[in-house]
Amino acid sequence: MLNKTEVLIVGAGPTGLTTAIELARRNINVRIIERRTQPSIRSKALVVHARTLELMDILGIANEMVRRGYTSPGIDFSSNAEKPLRASMYGLDTRFPFILILPQAETEAILERRLNDLGIEVERGRTLTSFTKTDEGICGIVECTEGDTFEINARYLVGADGAKSVVRKTLDLSFEGSSYSWTALLGDVQLQGHHAEGGTEQHSNNRGLAFIVPFDDGSHRIVTIDRNYQSTRHTRKLKLEDLQESISAILEKPVELSDPKWLTRWGASLRLAPQYRVGRVFLGGDAVHIHSPAGGQGLNTGVQDAFNLGWKLALAIEGTAPEAILNTYNAERHAIGKKVLRTSDLLLKSLLLHQPLLRQLRTILFQLLIPLPPIQRNLALNLSGLGISYQTGKGDLAGKRIPDMEFMTAKHELVRLYQLLSFPGYTLLLFIDPNQARQERDKIDRLIGYADNRLKPQIILNNGLPALHNFQANTLVDYRGDLETKLGAKTGRVILIRPDGYVASDLSTLDPEAFAEQLPSWKTRKIASSKALVA
Ligand SMILES: Cc1cc2nc3c(=O)[nH]c(=O)nc-3n(C[C@H](O)[C@H](O)[C@H](O)COP(=O)(O)OP(=O)(O)OC[C@H]3O[C@@H](n4cnc5c(N)ncnc54)[C@H](O)[C@@H]3O)c2cc1C
Repeated sequence: MLNKTEVLIVGAGPTGLTTAIELARRNINVRIIERRTQPSIRSKALVVHARTLELMDILGIANEMVRRGYTSPGIDFSSNAEKPLRASMYGLDTRFPFILILPQAETEAILERRLNDLGIEVERGRTLTSFTKTDEGICGIVECTEGDTFEINARYLVGADGAKSVVRKTLDLSFEGSSYSWTALLGDVQLQGHHAEGGTEQHSNNRGLAFIVPFDDGSHRIVTIDRNYQSTRHTRKLKLEDLQESISAILEKPVELSDPKWLTRWGASLRLAPQYRVGRVFLGGDAVHIHSPAGGQGLNTGVQDAFNLGWKLALAIEGTAPEAILNTYNAERHAIGKKVLRTSDLLLKSLLLHQPLLRQLRTILFQLLIPLPPIQRNLALNLSGLGISYQTGKGDLAGKRIPDMEFMTAKHELVRLYQLLSFPGYTLLLFIDPNQARQERDKIDRLIGYADNRLKPQIILNNGLPALHNFQANTLVDYRGDLETKLGAKTGRVILIRPDGYVASDLSTLDPEAFAEQLPSWKTRKIASSKALVA
């Protein structure tokens, strides 16, 4: 095997696997190395949020994930109250208005199969020990489990190697923040005497907090943060009896735990690296942000980092996007990392109040505030990731997430926008009134002229029959009026969507000149010929 590649990814967790898929999908030469010799079987992250599922929809694996997990209405703040207090995802404008409970090992297995389908295998039993910068990129030193060491030369390096990241440490980047003073007890076990039949549960009393998540096979994830178990170091092995005593005390009834599949003590930290990029080296996922588990943000944030980085890196390497696009990765995702740390910290602190009086006050406040519609919406958009937007491009929708919509093809088949977004480049929506198509034809054709292997125009008629027009682009009908009802769009709108489903630019009229002006920050190759078209 040639020890040269365009991109070397370190770590085959959710972040590394997603980055590898995004690169391989665009035929970029990529290698992914993983220290572990076998895929992990640990359940770890259980919560997959709506935005992550939308991105997995683009990769064609969201349905499989949903089929293998189960859904829950939202993030619970308390199951003790008469009515559970939760940030409900119901009603969000997405195909996935829920949280998906899926053990991380399953998510990783699905991602790895998708990567294998693209012809890339994870190279297991290979650990990056260090790397140096070279004229062409980086040279990674890799140690095999068998003991031998070899070099991999790459143009770019992606550190998706988790919280103890060797890549981050080699860069000498700090991991600013602190460790929480509490230790959680965690077990995947059989549970008798209590049934979390409604799905995920959260309980609390004077002793502390408990989370119960049932699995398909009848076993349960139990997590407690218990005042009586804080003196032991979190590296010490957890005994089933301790978890048993702790959960019984918090549920305030005798329950019986048995058949542990995984028992561990777990201490979390709140840390963020100061930057996600240093020259040709990028970092994502737990390698740059770790935080409290409240709100289930860790895996989701890592996967979304990967989605933000993958297409930019691919397009910059092949030369269809300017190199400067790579700067936007840090600008966009570091800001999100900061926000996730703040939210998860706040959530956890509010749940872990020690003083009984403060806890009572919190319960009253939660009961008053959480059901309020604006607060519900804010919480749901925040936690699901659907509320994320970036400061980029021009126009009303620029930087916003595009919601899914459904159109009809010329053959009267239904197609969703997120299926169209599986195209590994930009998607250009031209919203056309068929009655005006004739007089606007020249402008439409000039906009369609920007089509290439990384930009695909889609003509969306607001009614009528695609077959009556002869555009040199896929022509669909917005038969439900989605563009108008979801985006408030009028015909003539020109919306350029990035490969990760965020709007790159938004024009209110079919204006090829204005479109040409916006393009250079996003695309390179086609500009010259498009300008010729415009002239
Ligand atoms: C108990 C627990 C519960 C959690 N619950 C949730 C939840 O409900 N929702 C949520 O979103 N998140 C949750 N998380 C967090 C979530 O597991 C992480 O955020 C997620 O795994 C991060 O993914 P990653 O790919 O960035 O890093 P990791 O999953 O840590 O993957 C890094 C990979 O890199 C490999 N590696 C490390 N160093 C090297 C090296 N030098 N060379 C080669 N390979 C290397 C590692 O073996 C590992 O496979 C939980 C975590 C834990 C521990």
